[in-house]
Amino acid sequence: MTHATNAAVMRTSNRKLILDLIRRGPISRAELAERTQLTRASITQIADELLEAGLVEPCSTDCNPDAGTAPGRRRTMLALKHNARFFFGVHISRRRCRVGVVDLYGDVLTDDELLLDGHTPESTADAVAGIIRSQMAQLPYPKEQFLGIGISAPGPVDHREGIILNPPNFDAWHNTPICAMLCERTGLPALLEKDTNARALEEKYFGAAMNISGFMLVQIDEGVGSGVMIRDSLYRGTRGLGTEIGHTTIRYDGPPCRCGGRGCLENYLRIPALLAGSRFADWAQLTGCANEPDAARILDCAAEYLAAALVNAFNLYDLEQVFLSGEVAACPQPLLDRLTPLVSARVLSRSSRTPVSACSGRLPVRTGAMAVLYDFFQPRE
Ligand SMILES: [Zn+2]
Repeated sequence: MTHATNAAVMRTSNRKLILDLIRRGPISRAELAERTQLTRASITQIADELLEAGLVEPCSTDCNPDAGTAPGRRRTMLALKHNARFFFGVHISRRRCRVGVVDLYGDVLTDDELLLDGHTPESTADAVAGIIRSQMAQLPYPKEQFLGIGISAPGPVDHREGIILNPPNFDAWHNTPICAMLCERTGLPALLEKDTNARALEEKYFGAAMNISGFMLVQIDEGVGSGVMIRDSLYRGTRGLGTEIGHTTIRYDGPPCRCGGRGCLENYLRIPALLAGSRFADWAQLTGCANEPDAARILDCAAEYLAAALVNAFNLYDLEQVFLSGEVAACPQPLLDRLTPLVSARVLSRSSRTPVSACSGRLPVRTGAMAVLYDFFQPRE
C-alpha cells in the first residue's frame, strides 16, 4: 500500500495512536492532544469512541501520582480497561506448543502446553483449536471479546500469507499455512510472526525496551536469530523476511553455511558450536565456571564473534541498544562483561547507554500473542 491519506485510514491510524498512548499508562485528554498534535475536538471524539467501545475507562488522578495535579483540582484520566479484549497466543517451538489467552496488559490468563512429538501440523492444529475452544469456555467473557490468534514459530515465515516456510530442523512443518488452519477450525482471525520478531515486540511492549525506539533483539541458543525495531515499528524488510543476523558473515573466507553464505555468525556462535569439544554440556554450566581458563576462552571467543556482528548491526541500523535473548539470557553476565567494552569501543555513534543487555523474562503465550497485539495497537504501516 502506498501512503493512503483518505479520512477512514487517518481515523483508524489516529485511533490506534491514541490507544497506544493510553496503553502506556493513565493519561489526560490535554496530554493526548499535546503528545499527538491533534486538536482537542479530535481527541474528544476519539476518546468518546473508545469509551463507547468499552476499550478505555475514566479514572481519577489517583491512578497517576506523578501527574503533579494541584490539590483540589482533579483531572479525569483515561486508562485501558481491564478485561476489555483478549487475544490467544500460540507459541510454536520445535518440541512443544504453548497455547493461552492474554489481555490488553499482556497478562496471561490461561496457559496450556502441547508436546509436538508424534504430532503432524494437521493434528497439532486440531489439538490447538480444541484447547482454544475449551479455554474460551473456561473464561467468563463473550466470544466477541476474543479478537484473534497470534502465532509465533521458528523462522523463516511468510507473515503476510501466514505460512511457516522452511525453518531448519523442522521439516514436517515446512510450508504449513498455520493461520488458515487455525482460522478454519476456530473462526478467529490469525496472524503469524517469526519467533525472534515476536520476542522483539514483546520486549518493546512489556519488557526492557519499552522506551527504546530502535533496537535489535538477538536470540542465541541452538541457532542465532534476530528481530529489529526501527522507530517503534517492526522491521520486516522488503519481502517480509526481516533480519537474520545469524546469517551475516563474520569471516568472508569461512566454511560454507547451509544458507549458501560463508562464515555465517550462527555457525560460530550457536551454543552447540561454542561448546563442541569442551567439557560443558550447556550454557549454564559454562557460565558457572566462567573464571576457569577453558570456560573463559570460550566466552572470550563468543564475545568476539558477537561483537563483530553487533558492531555491523549498530552501524547499519543506527540502533540504540541490543538485547540478548534465548538460552544465553538466563546467565548473560560473563558474556556481557566481555562484550560491552568491545562493542562500545568499535561502534560509530557512541552513547551513554550500555550498548548490550539481557532481555527481561518472556512469557511464551504472550510471545505468541504479540502478532495480534501489535496489529491491534500499531498506529502505522
Ligand atoms: Zn548462513
